Formats: sequence, C-alpha cells, structure tokens
Amino acid sequence: MILGVLLAAALLYLFLRPGAAGGWVVVTRDGVETARYPLGQDRTVTIGDGDYNVLEIRDGAAAVIEANCGDHTCMRMGAISRDGETIVCLPHHLIVSIEGGEAAPFDAAAQ
Ligand SMILES: [Zn+2]
Repeated sequence: MILGVLLAAALLYLFLRPGAAGGWVVVTRDGVETARYPLGQDRTVTIGDGDYNVLEIRDGAAAVIEANCGDHTCMRMGAISRDGETIVCLPHHLIVSIEGGEAAPFDAAAQ
C-alpha cells in the first residue's frame, strides 16, 4: 500500500518535471502571466518590444542578462533557480519567478 503510493509519487514526479532541474520559469507582465518556460531547457528570450528584458535560461537557472530599463536592478539580481525566487523589473512591471524548482512540495512529501 505504502509502496504503491511512493511509486505513484515517483512516477508523478518523473512525469511532471520538465527537465533535470525541474520547475518552470514564469514571466508576468502587468500582473498577467505571459509565458512560462521549462527551467531544464536552455534558451534565451526577449520579453517586450520597446521596453525589453532579455531572459536567459541556462543550466537550470534563469537570469535577466540585458534590459533597457533605467535602473538595471533586474540584471543585478543574478540567476534564480529555486521555487518561489523572483526577479523583478519595476520600470517594466515585469516579474520572472520560479515555480516548482528544487523545493517543490512533492519532493518533501516523497521523503
Ligand atoms: Zn529592469
């Protein structure tokens, strides 16, 4: 019985996680989720047209590597990779956050 639950949890974990790192990079502009990318797949995306932020996902971490906002605070925040971590660009009303990273709830439940 317990073995079955553990097996189901393990299968669910394997099925849900998008890559080795697990988790999602969620992009929110003006309070609306506009995109989400698997944290486990390397990619570089430009968010926005006039006001832009370049988001890089590499080795299971996400970072804003370029932006034309005034303060560049988003670039200085560095890379994020754990569940709940965020990068905020106030001038562009942009939030990049991690969902279900290393601290995912079913990791704890499975132990
Ligand atoms: Zn910024």
